[in-house]
Amino acid sequence: MPDRYAVIGNPVTHSKSPWIHAQFARATGEDIEYGRIEAPVDGFARAVEAFRAQGGRGLNVTLPFKGEAFRLCAATSDRAAAAQAVNTLVLDRGRPWGDNTDGVGLVRDLAVNLGRKLAGAHILLMGAGGAAQGVIGPLAQAGAAAIVIANRTVPRAQALAARVPRVKACGYEALAGRSFDLVVNATSAGLAGELPPLPAGLFRPGALAYEMVYGHVTPFMAMARAAGAQVSDGLGMLVEQAAESFLVWRGVRPQTASVLAALRAS
Ligand code: NAP
Repeated sequence: MPDRYAVIGNPVTHSKSPWIHAQFARATGEDIEYGRIEAPVDGFARAVEAFRAQGGRGLNVTLPFKGEAFRLCAATSDRAAAAQAVNTLVLDRGRPWGDNTDGVGLVRDLAVNLGRKLAGAHILLMGAGGAAQGVIGPLAQAGAAAIVIANRTVPRAQALAARVPRVKACGYEALAGRSFDLVVNATSAGLAGELPPLPAGLFRPGALAYEMVYGHVTPFMAMARAAGAQVSDGLGMLVEQAAESFLVWRGVRPQTASVLAALRAS
């Protein structure tokens, strides 16, 4: 019997995680089965417990449950504790243990796949939800010269910035006159075809606009391209965070390049 894993979220129908983990399992020879669980928005803990009771060994947690997953855990990794958000649940070592691989996934995609130097960079992080919480610590540790978090609900950005040394917070209107080497869109606005109200002149020469949403060109990507920035979607982050979760569960880190290339080709 293969060991069982799944991604849990709402919605989760279009998740590429089952396909990605199937490629990792084939490449590493690990005997796993990886499915999808769409939990009711008020039924996350029940769905996790039902999966665990049926022998489930681990879950990837996606929108909107990362904060709830953190609160469900008896213990977590340091990086999940710093993020106060969990995207990787380990269920086969006693009480639920949580980790957060989003930050490693983003930083590896930026530094390894996209060849970006983060040390000394001026970075704007848009959003203050689960994804932003997961990536702010690892982004700051990569040696940025300055990081600003902008969010529609400004107090959320302020609360997040207060947890990380030297990070500032503001609303979108306060970005006028500022420019960045890297702008990361960690909002879900693109899923609804929306764009946070960004001022002109945001991108420095050679800047990268990184959209965490993947699978389609969002208004942020279109706007950044028109402004002359290099643009990337979040497919590389998706594959890299999945590889880190696989490592947490199975003790082996799968290669990611061929999986990312195959996803891009499809
Ligand atoms: P979340 O916890 O629900 O947070 C959503 C964030 O988006 C909040 O900061 C929210 O602002 C902001 N937002 C939503 N609609 C907006 C709009 N119309 N204008 C401006 N801001 C808006 O979601 P999450 O877990 O952080 O995920 C965010 C996105 O990242 C999702 O699209 C998710 O799919 C993607 N993601 C991708 C990866 C990957 O591997 N590529 C990994 C993680 C997440 P308020 O605080 O003002 O509501």
